[in-house]
Amino acid sequence: MTADEKTSLAEFLDLAAAVTGSGYRGEKREYHFSDDVETAHSGGEAAAVHAPAADTTGDSLEKVAAAVRACTACKLAATRKNAVPGEGALNPLLMVIGEGPGADEDATGRPFVGRAGQLLDKMLASIDLSRDSNCFIANVIKCRPPANRDPQPDETAACASFLERQIKIIKPRFILCAGRIAAHTLLNTTEPIGKLRGRFVDFQIGDTTLPFLATYHPSALLRNEDLKRPAWEDLKLLRNAIMGTGDQGPGIGD
Ligand code: URA
Repeated sequence: MTADEKTSLAEFLDLAAAVTGSGYRGEKREYHFSDDVETAHSGGEAAAVHAPAADTTGDSLEKVAAAVRACTACKLAATRKNAVPGEGALNPLLMVIGEGPGADEDATGRPFVGRAGQLLDKMLASIDLSRDSNCFIANVIKCRPPANRDPQPDETAACASFLERQIKIIKPRFILCAGRIAAHTLLNTTEPIGKLRGRFVDFQIGDTTLPFLATYHPSALLRNEDLKRPAWEDLKLLRNAIMGTGDQGPGIGD
């Protein structure tokens, strides 16, 4: 492990511990680790090599967002304050797909802005990713279910084409799927998230196949300390895949 990796891991574990408790710590702890091995990688270099293909269909993220905001295809339209289309970099290395908006997202119209979202931002930052530069953040459903209940099948079905269009438009190099609900919806399975995480699978969309990694939802990390270590393993797997450095976990290419 490099010094940067050790620092990222320590900060990520610190942050998750702090958020799980009474909220974020005011002061940042200083770490002084040294490298185990030499590396020459940085997220900046990875971002620079991504040259996305231009969208040729005439569709656009703006069109999808407008359609999402106008949508009344399911009952969630009646209870939402704001629909939450998604946001982030236009030519992203990574698309993060969560479950659906919570109260903070419903209030603001922006994805992952509550406590789970703040943890997600820190997790991404620990591997040099951010919604400002190289990630797009979206959800399987675009409107908040009342009282944060699980989305119902008619609701995920009504929303499916929005996410599909977004993926086709932005053509991310990788997908990180946050949590059981999103993984079950997108992979059409009921396997436990503990079995789905930890390895890349092929995700077919149109005539494109994208590497897809499921991990625990940040909300689950806030509830359960034991999930932080495997979540960090997933982030390292993702970082290695982005950097093109080998190990993509068991099952790749199976
Ligand atoms: N949880 C999600 O799955 N998505 C959000 O946007 C916020 C919380």
